[in-house]
Amino acid sequence: MINDTIRVIRAIYVFDSRGNPTVGVQIQLDNGIEAFAAVPSGASTGAHEAVELRDGGARFGGKGVLTACQHVNDVLGPAVVGMRASDQADIDFVLNNLDGTQQKERMGANAILGVSLAAMHAAARAQGVPLYRYLGGANARSLPVPLLNVVNGGAHADNNVDIQEFMIVPVGAGTFSEAMQMASETYHALKSLLKARGLRTAVGDEGGFAPDLGSDREALDLLVAAIRSTSLEPGKDVVLALDVAANELRREGRYHLGGVPHTAAEMVQFYRRLVEDYPIVSIEDGLSEDDWEGWHLLAHTLGDQVQLVGDDLFVTNPVRIRQGIDQGAANAVLIKLNQIGTVSETLEAIRMTQHAGWRAIVSHRSGETEDTTIADLTVGVNGGQIKTGAPARSERVAKYNRLLMIEAEDSGLQYTGWEAFGR
Ligand code: PGA
Ligand code: ZN
Repeated sequence: MINDTIRVIRAIYVFDSRGNPTVGVQIQLDNGIEAFAAVPSGASTGAHEAVELRDGGARFGGKGVLTACQHVNDVLGPAVVGMRASDQADIDFVLNNLDGTQQKERMGANAILGVSLAAMHAAARAQGVPLYRYLGGANARSLPVPLLNVVNGGAHADNNVDIQEFMIVPVGAGTFSEAMQMASETYHALKSLLKARGLRTAVGDEGGFAPDLGSDREALDLLVAAIRSTSLEPGKDVVLALDVAANELRREGRYHLGGVPHTAAEMVQFYRRLVEDYPIVSIEDGLSEDDWEGWHLLAHTLGDQVQLVGDDLFVTNPVRIRQGIDQGAANAVLIKLNQIGTVSETLEAIRMTQHAGWRAIVSHRSGETEDTTIADLTVGVNGGQIKTGAPARSERVAKYNRLLMIEAEDSGLQYTGWEAFGR
């Protein structure tokens, strides 16, 4: 039997891609094996997410994580020392019990997730297998289609674009590396187009451009033009996905598009026309986090044609996902480890999603580190899709590079391609 008893757990703060502190957890097992995990951090966070504990006060503008690290070093770590790293469910149960709150606000979801992730990495190492194989066993058989955020609007940019993220999706590729080539070439073609039009080419937190465009349709036209100028075919080789982040558009019960208030039903018609005019295969957070009625209408109207992804709606929470499945409120779930705060609950969220015949898209946060856990997670659970930013900026590219390495070392994994969207 493998000896994977936990000997030491220690938290330190490291920096994320925005230069803010975040929790990093080092773990050592009795057999000498060591691992490290770093926790990501969102900016447009949903109200129902697990709570990220920040110190407040003057240090780091209030964003310090010394309290969270202290919780790991004084409470959470000592409680799991002596347990087996591979007993993930037991470890997460102990961590949750020590916190004792619904949204993990006492210990902090960042503290809890750091320990949970570090244990998972150490357990995989102790078994001498890559993380995706540890998680998926013989069942890990596919490489995901990447959803790459290349143009930003909404709260993420200073322009007249309402939609937060415009993504390119290289479904027509035969392999993951070919998909990344299509994505990279389209990204660079887009940059050239922006330059030629005298538009800004500086990039945002997730590596996407944030040009000063007049409307959502202008952004979509630009993407279609970029794909074409790479000699790829929009709708066949590369398709489009949106993250509307509609919470940010909602004020006084209406969604504000182009400065005009819209009802949920009007938003659904807006999406219906976009889907008719552009090769859009996926719309995330098309409505806000508590508009269950609106989501139901959206799913009823467009659910057969397009993937409808709940991010802020579900917050990777099995209770909310169950509610969504029962109501037929969407057909896909965005999976973010730090929205729920443990590995076990994340795996449960994915299992529940896939069991209902829905898709689970594993996702980064806008604040990231060099940690590549999500690349292995998506392969391990046959997620079929990963959302981790533009093909630029090292904290985004780290995940794509990890997938390229997985592809190179395991020729048995198939690129998901169109199948990711059931076509
Ligand atoms: P966040 O945004 O990581 O800043 O929350 C990403 C998203 O809305 O998907
Ligand atoms: Zn989102």
